[in-house]
Amino acid sequence: MTDYLDLIPKPKASTVNLGLSSPKLSTLRSILGEPRPDYTGSCQPITGSFKKRIVTRSVGPFKCTGFDVAVASLADIMLAVRKEVPDLYAILGTAGMACARKVKIKQKDGSIKLGKNPSNHSWGLAVDITLKGALDEQGDDKCYRGLLILSRYFNAAGWYWGVTFPTEDGMHFEVAESTLRRWKKDGMLD
Ligand SMILES: [Zn+2]
Repeated sequence: MTDYLDLIPKPKASTVNLGLSSPKLSTLRSILGEPRPDYTGSCQPITGSFKKRIVTRSVGPFKCTGFDVAVASLADIMLAVRKEVPDLYAILGTAGMACARKVKIKQKDGSIKLGKNPSNHSWGLAVDITLKGALDEQGDDKCYRGLLILSRYFNAAGWYWGVTFPTEDGMHFEVAESTLRRWKKDGMLD
């Protein structure tokens, strides 16, 4: 049986997130507006105009709160994982989706530094995944084997995996720039 919590070196950037990029702040802001007027390092309520699109529902293995189209996409991803990798599906959980706050970056000494910009979680378009309740450690350039397998499903659905961020973030998946633009073009964000 596969040990999904086996720690493996992070994959080469050329082997994941093919054709996908993290959404730019300018894209998020121009398509959806600002989540709230100010940010701290903690989750605060989304007050922006897209607030009405934030929903809480089950996506299969767990319940989460996020932008409705992204939550529906996440449910589709989970359905495919349930069919094809049921033992991985059975250990999936979340450490959060919508959360209006600044970016948090783990430093080499283990402390957390706040970035100046809001996190993509602020738009409810990113999700942090746990395996058996465990969070993949940020910035150690390793990831759980289960997250690598899961990333194939996220990438296929147009989600970007944070393992290739400048500071590796293996637990983090977010709606990619191209996916967001396609949803906009298709009227799914109006
Ligand atoms: Zn995250």
